[in-house]
Amino acid sequence: MSLGQGRHYLAIPGPSVMPDRVLAAMHRPAPNIYHGPLIDLVEGAVADLKSLARTQGDVAIYVCNGHGTWEAAIVNTLSAGDKVLVPTTGTFAVGWGEMAEAMGVDVEYLSFGKRDSVDPNALEERLRADTGHEIKAVMTTQVDTSTSVRNDVAALREAMDRAVHPALLMIDSIACFGCDRFDMDAWGVDVMVAGSQKGLMTPPGMGFVFFSEKAAAARENASLVTPYWDWRPRVNPDLFYEYFCGTAPTHHLYGLREALDMIAEEGSEAVFRRHAVLAEAVWAAFDTWGQGGPIELNVQDPQQRSHAVTSIRVGSEKATALRTWVEERAGLTLGIGLGMAAPGSPEWHHFFRLGHMGHVNAHMVLGALATIEAGLAAVGIEFAPGGVAAAAEVVAREA
Ligand SMILES: *Cc1c(COP(=O)(O)O)cnc(C)c1O
Repeated sequence: MSLGQGRHYLAIPGPSVMPDRVLAAMHRPAPNIYHGPLIDLVEGAVADLKSLARTQGDVAIYVCNGHGTWEAAIVNTLSAGDKVLVPTTGTFAVGWGEMAEAMGVDVEYLSFGKRDSVDPNALEERLRADTGHEIKAVMTTQVDTSTSVRNDVAALREAMDRAVHPALLMIDSIACFGCDRFDMDAWGVDVMVAGSQKGLMTPPGMGFVFFSEKAAAARENASLVTPYWDWRPRVNPDLFYEYFCGTAPTHHLYGLREALDMIAEEGSEAVFRRHAVLAEAVWAAFDTWGQGGPIELNVQDPQQRSHAVTSIRVGSEKATALRTWVEERAGLTLGIGLGMAAPGSPEWHHFFRLGHMGHVNAHMVLGALATIEAGLAAVGIEFAPGGVAAAAEVVAREA
């Protein structure tokens, strides 16, 4: 039988759960796009986005998903034939690099596998070897959503500074903006890309490209840029429509405004803390279960784990059966394993992911974990009992 009737929980790493307040804010007639409240709303949202990213720099807003922001970041800073270095900790930095390659950029990948973050010393060493300063940018993820590896972005900048290398530092924070702290100016980040549908709790379809003065200067020599993706008019519009190079994404903007209000009401520090504690509860559950079976967290070092998403290795082909069980019998959707094994191979069924980004609280995470524990038992994955109790202890101690 199924016990799935009731409110469904989509616990995948994006799109994330949308708050009723965000949905309600979007449920209204189309506004005037020539004057009136929408114009003020955009100015306020730009200011709030910049303050959430802790930057005095600029943010260009695009009507696009995360992949669109990748392209925007590349074309505004690079020219065909430029060289970039892409340290990888999973699938997403590779995808960004491949996009640059397709546009004629010379991409060098520096792989750190699928379970560890970028080693700043290795980055420093590679940059020191680039004595002619051919590398124009270092592009990587803050959190790789496939592996759930989190990089220490400040440490990457320190490594670049030790190597006295002038490359731009470009960071994909799509997975974790609004969940994991991002301190753009203090960390010396030149370009950061984010999307609406993860930590910002708004439907997919709006992308954000933050950039520093140094990146703005690089724009002047970037020959890949095309009119639609040019970030200059978007951050310095003479006319309102230039913010978006066309019609504003009106209803996304209402949703975003509400989401930013919710973040402001809670306080960004409290938002980061909530994500950290909920992630710790998730880790406690899997660590406990893993004491009696092959199930384990993909990232071993807690310092290198995301607070927004967790990748799990089940140790057998039963991860797909588990996902199917919790979805059909209990109303919980988990994320597929991504980038860990070739689609169609038996190993592909060894992995799944749990998203805990954005509009999530203790009872949602504890409920998801209890449902997973039921699923482990139901599909015959070996585990030690007590995972949910361990997660509850974290919540009891920290809340
Ligand atoms: C989700 C995600 C993307 C892709 O975003 P889309 O909206 O699917 O294009 C890119 N990078 C990271 C780190 C992500 O989490």
